[in-house]
Amino acid sequence: MVQVIPIERKSAVLTPSSLACLSHVPTVNLTAGCAHECRYCYARGYMTHPGEGKVAFYTNTLARLREELRRKRKKPTTVYFSPSSDTFQPVPEVLNMAYDVFKFLLESGIGVTFVTKGRIPDRHRDLLAAHAPLVQGRIGLTTLDPAVAAAFEPHAASPEVRLAQAAELIGAGVPVDARLDPILPGVTDGADCLEPLCAALARIGVRTIAASVLFLRPAVTGSLRRCVEDKQMLNRVLDCFAGSEPLAIHAGNSRVLALPASARLEIMERLKTIAHRYGLEVLVCACKNPDISSGSCHISGRWPPVVRGGSQLGLFQS
Ligand code: SF4
Repeated sequence: MVQVIPIERKSAVLTPSSLACLSHVPTVNLTAGCAHECRYCYARGYMTHPGEGKVAFYTNTLARLREELRRKRKKPTTVYFSPSSDTFQPVPEVLNMAYDVFKFLLESGIGVTFVTKGRIPDRHRDLLAAHAPLVQGRIGLTTLDPAVAAAFEPHAASPEVRLAQAAELIGAGVPVDARLDPILPGVTDGADCLEPLCAALARIGVRTIAASVLFLRPAVTGSLRRCVEDKQMLNRVLDCFAGSEPLAIHAGNSRVLALPASARLEIMERLKTIAHRYGLEVLVCACKNPDISSGSCHISGRWPPVVRGGSQLGLFQS
């Protein structure tokens, strides 16, 4: 398991994101690094990443958040968890902080929106369900195959658990979408993987899928090579990138190695064809796919950007 390093946060808790689809909500990370240690995690390349096998836990998040909100004339309408970590990591201090921060925000009338590949403890689920009108969830799910999940997402909740807890939240009135990110070319991009995934999501009441195909940064390629033990499976992924070109994406204005546009389009068309058979909408985000999409993945949920007399709703409410 990971080494947890407690640290005091010096900078603001509520942070704007460089992603266009997160521009209208402040974001919060409870940690730098993530105990799920997904081998493809893009956050591995970030400056704040503490290194393999480590998670830096911000011990003063709640205290600073209270103080920040007390001083703000306008409160956020909703807060997004988390752009470069997971709120529901299997680390007790992180889960306790997640509970306290969620409770504080929800009891202050501030919405919470999250994406997770983790196991959501019962008390967190009860809290979210009790404030359902203020909550939007999204489960990250890349495969139903336990072997693929174990190879690439070793410490995340099993796909079965993720589906079951999403079903429970939906049953409690919390809207939950799915995030198929990243689709692993050569491993999870075929109909044999996408078909059962779409069927399972539709069965539990998911209506919308946001999807993106894996792209590579040096830190991601290094992690994949070092950590994925099934080299045959790994090579099926990496072989797809032979001859790929760098692509400028709108996520921190970075350049990544992406599959050619035609290959990503083919995968997305396959997914859309299958998803539509199950009544699922597919969103392809222009932040990560500026060459094949002009849409948004609505990563923070569909909080209406235009309300109240037609005015633009910004990061904060009066
Ligand atoms: S759950 Fe998300 S943030 Fe955590 S390691 Fe996996 S991809 Fe990265």
